[in-house]
Amino acid sequence: MPSNTDYLLAIEDLTVSFDGFKAVDELTLYIDKGELRVIIGPNGAGKTTVLDLISGKTRSSSGSIRYNNKELTKMREHEIVRAGIGRKFQTPSIYEKLSVYENLEISYPWGRTVFGSLKFSRTKEVIDRINEVAEQIFLVDMLETEAELLSHGQKQWLEIGMLLVQNPELIMLDEPVAGMTAKEREATAALLEKIAKERSIIIIEHDMDFVAKIADQVTVLHLGKILKEGSMDEVRSDPVVQEVYLGH
Ligand code: ADP
Ligand code: MG
Repeated sequence: MPSNTDYLLAIEDLTVSFDGFKAVDELTLYIDKGELRVIIGPNGAGKTTVLDLISGKTRSSSGSIRYNNKELTKMREHEIVRAGIGRKFQTPSIYEKLSVYENLEISYPWGRTVFGSLKFSRTKEVIDRINEVAEQIFLVDMLETEAELLSHGQKQWLEIGMLLVQNPELIMLDEPVAGMTAKEREATAALLEKIAKERSIIIIEHDMDFVAKIADQVTVLHLGKILKEGSMDEVRSDPVVQEVYLGH
């Protein structure tokens, strides 16, 4: 049995095979409280699959994932969300016909009343929280705007906001700056640094300039295994990493 740890997330000997092919292969990875970790690696390395395993979308073949010392591999997706893990997929999934405000409101962790119906009221607490998040994601002046009218980058921010409203302790983002302008990327780096002060973040990213800007620790994944772990400089100057990834 794995022993208890101080890590927020402790992944040990995690493997998943798809028809005999190991997309994630005996992976061991620890994430600290308050850490901003970036995972990089070539296409097909298993990056998205790692997030699928943590969020319960994919079941592991073997190994363990403990979050605050709670085993996740046996939990269902909604239980993992409730435990405090929020995840953003590669393509934005917002409600195009709703306003920015309504998108954030719908994501608020509404409780259920004793009668089982959804408790849903615009209390001051809810309104304050939505405004606070809208401020963080640079959309406070666009609360009444229909989401479909936002730029691609603003849609990505809105989806990050929909996670923040739920106040997760761990946020996982899959290529959050894909398709963003240089200016939007810069704003996103600032946003992520800010929200990382209160929670842990795992980011999968391809844009090396962006990674260099935000990362504490970088993990390079290749063929479902860790090829290298360290600061961006250490990773960048590693000859093996250059060969399998950065060189191409
Ligand atoms: P990355 O995000 O690093 O580009 P993925 O995690 O998406 O890579 O994929 C890793 C490998 O696992 C790929 O070869 C992919 O085809 C395979 N794979 C991922 N999910 C599944 C699945 N549900 N069924 C079968 N194969 C999968
Ligand atoms: Mg991927």
